[in-house]
Amino acid sequence: MDTTAVRLTAVRRVYRDVTALDGVDLDFRAGTFTAVMGPSGSGKSTLLQCAAGLDRPTSGVVEIGGTPLTGLSERRLTLLRRERIGFVFQAFNLMPSLTAAQNVALPLRLAGRRPSKGEIREALGRVGLEGRAGHRPGELSGGQQQRVALARALITRPTVLFGDEPTGALDTETGAQVLSMVRELVDRDGQTVVMVTHDPVVAEYADRLVRLVDGRVVSSC
Ligand code: ADP
Ligand code: MG
Repeated sequence: MDTTAVRLTAVRRVYRDVTALDGVDLDFRAGTFTAVMGPSGSGKSTLLQCAAGLDRPTSGVVEIGGTPLTGLSERRLTLLRRERIGFVFQAFNLMPSLTAAQNVALPLRLAGRRPSKGEIREALGRVGLEGRAGHRPGELSGGQQQRVALARALITRPTVLFGDEPTGALDTETGAQVLSMVRELVDRDGQTVVMVTHDPVVAEYADRLVRLVDGRVVSSC
């Protein structure tokens, strides 16, 4: 498979007097795992936010699954994000009073759908948590909570899964487990993944490494 899931063309993002992204051209191919690295303040989070349609570039174009985001209304953009984008963060951002199953069901409920039990079970199964459907976040380990967040991000079968330092709050071993799970999602389901990380071991799991410095791509291999 050689299709582009996400394409950035000449993307710039300027905040007042700070140029966070300074002309970024990148293609993320479908079914591949890309790691984005670079020093603090180099624009990694801004890149992800722009690529995911959570932030609008000052200039340049982002296309997701062939659809340019430029010119989409907020409403259309929200719908596109809901259907085609999954996002996981360093903080798991789970609802503490809801069970794992209820957390995973949230994106579908927000889209006005009533998720089936089978659908939820399948999503939890994909991250190896089929036995934990009834547990609340406080009853799960950090790694398990991040896997619930992954299942929640994947329930809509997004075109691309973005992660902004998703293993940043986990110990080395648990982080490695989450990374092999993500690798499995790429290999087994053809999931496209773009992950920002500080962790050099991520390179062992990713197909491609993109390095940012001062808002520019300095190497990509
Ligand atoms: P990274 O994730 O690599 O640490 P960021 O993308 O968060 O970098 O930030 C890149 C640059 O843009 C930094 O100089 C940061 O201070 C600046 N920046 C990020 N977000 C904002 C914002 N909302 N307002 C002003 N400046 C910002
Ligand atoms: Mg960041």
